[in-house]
Amino acid sequence: MTIQAPEGTCDLLPDEARRWDNFRRRAFEIFGNFGYQPIHTPIFEQTELFVRGIGNATDVVSKEMFTTISGGNLEKLLAGEEIKDKSRLSLRPEGTAGVVRAVIQHDLVPNGAAPAKLMYAGPMFRAERPQKGRLRQFRQIGIECLGADSPSIDAEAITMLMTFLHSIAIPPERMTLLLNSMGCEKCRPTYREKVRAYILENAENLCEECCSRAQSNPLRAFDCKNPKCARVMDFAPRITDYLCDDCREHHETVKDLLDEIEIPYTESPKLVRGLDYYTRTVFEVQVSTGLGAQNAIGGGGRYDRLVEEVGGRPTSGLGFAIGYERCILALEAACVPLAKQRGIDVFFACVNEEVRKRAFIMAYKLRNAGISAELDHQNRSLKSQFKMADKLQARWVVIVGPEELAQEKVRVRDMQTHTETVIDLPAIDNFISSVGITLGEAL
Ligand code: AMP
Repeated sequence: MTIQAPEGTCDLLPDEARRWDNFRRRAFEIFGNFGYQPIHTPIFEQTELFVRGIGNATDVVSKEMFTTISGGNLEKLLAGEEIKDKSRLSLRPEGTAGVVRAVIQHDLVPNGAAPAKLMYAGPMFRAERPQKGRLRQFRQIGIECLGADSPSIDAEAITMLMTFLHSIAIPPERMTLLLNSMGCEKCRPTYREKVRAYILENAENLCEECCSRAQSNPLRAFDCKNPKCARVMDFAPRITDYLCDDCREHHETVKDLLDEIEIPYTESPKLVRGLDYYTRTVFEVQVSTGLGAQNAIGGGGRYDRLVEEVGGRPTSGLGFAIGYERCILALEAACVPLAKQRGIDVFFACVNEEVRKRAFIMAYKLRNAGISAELDHQNRSLKSQFKMADKLQARWVVIVGPEELAQEKVRVRDMQTHTETVIDLPAIDNFISSVGITLGEAL
């Protein structure tokens, strides 16, 4: 049997790969306008980073991490020997922990400095049970802002998230922005105890997992997909009734700023989000159709304790991530047409083998000048070369024939008007030098 891509992964074929590039580029353009700068961190990190950063009691860390062991260490482990903590590595299940690690390692937010506004894009890995909208390798774009504690940064990030989702044409009426506050280390413990007590009181109507969560992570019971549990949790104590004064004020300011710029949101006291590190503001964008239970296309929140948790100075932080594959599913469900491949500029059709060398040189010059060009490499007939030019949506076909070449000319067919003109070869050279990209320009 031929080998297939691993379960829960997908290949991005050319149209899709181009779409992912556009998605990233669009996001970086928009986030760049808000002062965010790109960062790329490794795809794997020490397992310890995720354990400390995301939390051992989360599904992401306890059940879904892909942990990798390099060859020599695997042999040691199999032989029952210990390996060093720094050799225990995991593929990143999300982007925040790695970015925060990099910020600490490179001291990107020295005392008194402006916040570090960072954006990233790339694959994430979670060993979940694959289904529509739930993959084991999926792509995210995201941002992290470290060193700003004002609620205005929360509102700004939410604005940016919505601006991006609107820019890729997800219909606004299909999106709901959910907003909540998860409190802080002062007010959340009391609330957590209230939820724990509520779960224990209602244990007979909750699933086994929710009951066991009462001990480890009671707030996760809000995320349970079991409809019976969801009904019970509808009546659980609400965090908004337990916020301390500072958290309440922060939350009110975020809402006020969103109101000011008319970003609609729905307050959702049950929104707790899967990861342990959130404090205060949390938000999520859900779509109404096409994604079933996996209806969140993006989300994030504030994490004021995370930097300390992974060994840095106390530094407030906030971030969000958007799932690429789910956005595409949302666009397909809304019947939004997706961009098709752009045609090439010029196709060189060779009348016979002898002229191929000249076509090869002309194509080389055009490509160097930033003009897309293609020619046949399979000795096809002129008719098949025209078919190929059509398929590639060539704007012009340059027909290279021995008779014209003898007079330093070529025939050029305009594929839109279907008219042909004979032009002098030096005219092409002049054209190229007028539009050329500068070779050797620094990246
Ligand atoms: P999270 O880090 O869980 O908040 O995820 C942020 C976004 O990533 C979600 O809103 C989804 O759009 C996307 N996402 C998370 N997990 C998966 C997955 N297993 N497969 C595809 N997309 C995912």
